[in-house]
Amino acid sequence: MKAAIVTKDHKVSVEDKQLRALKHGEALVQTEYCGVCHTDLHVKNADFGDVTGTVLGHEGIGKVIELGEGVTSLKIGDRVSIAWMFESCGTCEYCNTGRETLCRTVKNAGYTVDGAMAEQVIVSADYAVKIPDNVDPAAASSVTCAGVTTYKAVKVSNIKPGQWIGVFGIGGLGNLAVQYAKHVFGAKVVAFDISDDKLAFAKEMGADEVVNSLKEDPVARAKELTDGAGLDATVITAVAKTPFNQAIDVVKAGATVVAVGLPVDKMDLDIPRLVLDGIQVVGSLVGTRQDLKEALQFAGEGKVVPKVQLRKLEEINEIFEEMEAGTITGRMVIDFTK
Ligand SMILES: [Zn+2]
Ligand SMILES: [Zn+2]
Repeated sequence: MKAAIVTKDHKVSVEDKQLRALKHGEALVQTEYCGVCHTDLHVKNADFGDVTGTVLGHEGIGKVIELGEGVTSLKIGDRVSIAWMFESCGTCEYCNTGRETLCRTVKNAGYTVDGAMAEQVIVSADYAVKIPDNVDPAAASSVTCAGVTTYKAVKVSNIKPGQWIGVFGIGGLGNLAVQYAKHVFGAKVVAFDISDDKLAFAKEMGADEVVNSLKEDPVARAKELTDGAGLDATVITAVAKTPFNQAIDVVKAGATVVAVGLPVDKMDLDIPRLVLDGIQVVGSLVGTRQDLKEALQFAGEGKVVPKVQLRKLEEINEIFEEMEAGTITGRMVIDFTK
């Protein structure tokens, strides 16, 4: 089967790969779609360590075609996800308290184990979340990572209906954060970016207001929108340091700032501002299986519609170049159905 494999020179080569036999509790999935995520770019560039030889991909959707011994949670023909959280230990403090994504021995698809940018992929059956029939499978690929990540981030922000939330960075993640915040949590949404095209996209996805942070002062605009108070929460999906700092400057006292984007950098935290204004800055990493179920349910109800564009596996290096150039709107998804 064909697979997108990380090479030593930080590229991806599409090669033939033989999969090993299934172990107890595993299932074999015939991939239908796999989204291309900014995290894949980091993985292939060895930003999180060298993973030469690994199959990329953690936004996979496919159908179960073979079951290993002892699998009871899946049957042949089920459509399932292959997500970043491939498997956790199931017994540690984090796993037992609903925080399985923080498990210290978690396995990640397309990073520590072979992922879904391949015609077939082995999954840990109990961790493969079933995809509801009312979700388009290509769009569902985007929910398995970008969707669940932003759904969880908005959840963590504690935003309430009618409150103002700011979303920084309107890429593959940000546009979904806008949709979850607006259509699921009932918040007022202001989108911040430095590209007018991406801001127009945010408007289309339901943002109440948009701010081009290069052309106008984000802090002044946030104050203007909230009678001088500041925003109730922010979610940062951008991959640069400046928006991380701005996301703190635009909020009101008692607000929560949720960091999701992963620039390899440090953010400036003004200590008196944090302490005196009681600002909470929290990191949020993907979501649990339960979060993914919920995120998929809202997609099935049509409240959140990921914008995806289908591409061929052979175009993978081009897609990464476009990603690095920042020219992608929505999500590029590799189509394995043709
Ligand atoms: Zn991802
Ligand atoms: Zn664990």
